[in-house]
Amino acid sequence: MRIDIITVLPELLKSPFEASILKRSIEKGLVSVHFHNLRDYTDKSYNQIDDYQFGGGAGMVMMIEPIDKCISKLRSERDYDEVIYMSPDGETLNQKMANSLSLVNNIIILCGHYKGVDQRVRDTLITREISIGDYVLSGGELGAAVLCDTIIRLIPGVLNNETSALTDTFQDNLLAPPVYTRPADYKGLKVPEVLLNGNFPKIEKWREDEAYKRTKELRPDLLDND
Ligand code: SAH
Repeated sequence: MRIDIITVLPELLKSPFEASILKRSIEKGLVSVHFHNLRDYTDKSYNQIDDYQFGGGAGMVMMIEPIDKCISKLRSERDYDEVIYMSPDGETLNQKMANSLSLVNNIIILCGHYKGVDQRVRDTLITREISIGDYVLSGGELGAAVLCDTIIRLIPGVLNNETSALTDTFQDNLLAPPVYTRPADYKGLKVPEVLLNGNFPKIEKWREDEAYKRTKELRPDLLDND
């Protein structure tokens, strides 16, 4: 998979891709991530990429021209499955979306700033708008990092057995069951007996029951989903 991220703050975005699972997935060649500084696509002085909004009001708006230039250049080089704009009013990111996005080949992610982008960008250049939750960030970069993390860890070959995604919360609309590690007894706090006896069918059944119990208690809404 190839991910192209358009941003005015590439330096803000780099570190999540330089550690742990994301770093290894890039090193293994399973994904490549490219940052494009929007300021490289403007002809205006001071590398200006935003302007006052028509009609007045506080807050600058990102102009269409540099965004159009950057996206057009990328699209002339390859086909993209999605051109995503990070936006608080987009569809809210969930595991199902991450699963399906992990299967595509090429995506562009546009990070907004200030009051956001000129509406004509959204009307003509963007194929999908994604929010990471009902709150407002100061820029799309942190949202893009969250989106990339959740997609990349699902790309086949990225996670190994120790980090398997299959038993994670939200897969199958269930929260994950509780997990324990050594010691089996910490100051009288004991690990459930069933996990210690090596009876794997029984352990599996216990995990399923616990996942269901936890979901029913904490997120009953998930059990109503198809
Ligand atoms: N004025 C806009 C908010 C702009 S916030 C509004 O009220 O809708 C600036 C940028 O941060 C946005 O363009 C978007 O790219 C990003 N952003 C803010 N909140 C976000 C969220 N919840 N999810 C994804 N991106 C978000």
